[in-house]
Amino acid sequence: MNKIGFIGLGNMGFFMSKNLAENGFLVDGFDSSEIAIQKMKQTKVDVSKTFEEVCKNKNFIITMLPDGNAVKSIWTDAIKFINNNTIIVDCSTIDINVAQDLHKICKNKNIESIDAPVSGGTIGAQNGTLTFIVGGSEKTYENVKPLFDIMGQKSILCGEGGSGQATKLCNNLLLAVTMSGLGESLKLANSFNLNLEKFFEVISTSTGSCWALNNYFPVKNIGPISPADNEFKPGFSSKLMLKDLKLAKKGAENNNLKLDLNNYVISKYENLIEKNKGDFDFSVIVKN
Ligand code: NAD
Repeated sequence: MNKIGFIGLGNMGFFMSKNLAENGFLVDGFDSSEIAIQKMKQTKVDVSKTFEEVCKNKNFIITMLPDGNAVKSIWTDAIKFINNNTIIVDCSTIDINVAQDLHKICKNKNIESIDAPVSGGTIGAQNGTLTFIVGGSEKTYENVKPLFDIMGQKSILCGEGGSGQATKLCNNLLLAVTMSGLGESLKLANSFNLNLEKFFEVISTSTGSCWALNNYFPVKNIGPISPADNEFKPGFSSKLMLKDLKLAKKGAENNNLKLDLNNYVISKYENLIEKNKGDFDFSVIVKN
């Protein structure tokens, strides 16, 4: 049970595959970007193989791709090459419907599959402290858990296939709203000429405290190291955050729900992307 095909070696996949390769797994990696492949060559992940070879004779295939279209296309192709006892794990954040459809396709072919989007960002991926938000059967979860334990510090089985994605979208909606709220609070603080170190000290231990403030304070040289200390280089890009907020909107609409705050943060991120800031970290929203 130690052979892994890892597809999608970007900001997150680079560290996740590297951690698996450094902890006893034989990892073959694949990415469509030559830049990602070149970067991976400094690690124990083998990037010398074709897509077919990466999929063949593996215990696990893991995908860490930008969106549902990429995951659907890769899973559809991978299924042609994998064994019946290969488990497919998607750690990307994608549409709930696409995840559910892919689980159905796998089930019809007697292939075990699981959706396991993550929380914790690139820092969590690097340090092996991600949280895996999992949807699938108890049996498949138990089989994949040793991998989650290497790449992360926590994994939670939320329910049947697709429920990992659904839970993840609820999380990111809240994250975008709290980061945006923090931006407004900072604007007010600046208008009062407040000392932002004191602002951080007070609010991080007061009722306004939240993950966005405590762990990702978006002001240079104050609080923990965050993308603000690195010119808002991601991290988690604004364009990926917008993708997730739109997926949450789509999920809400399917359930006849209108989410006012989600619509508000979508418009803020769309505005950022119009200003060509889509590749900046999502926390740059506090400056807009
Ligand atoms: P990324 O864009 O850095 O990496 C994606 C990689 O997939 C790229 O290297 C790209 O070349 C590759 N790729 C795209 N299409 C491909 C294809 N058809 N075949 C092979 N390779 C292909 O993105 P990321 O930041 O690593 O995020 C990956 C996923 O994880 C996304 O779904 C994102 O929403 C989610 N996520 C990201 C973070 C974060 O902090 N970056 C946090 C949580 C979740």
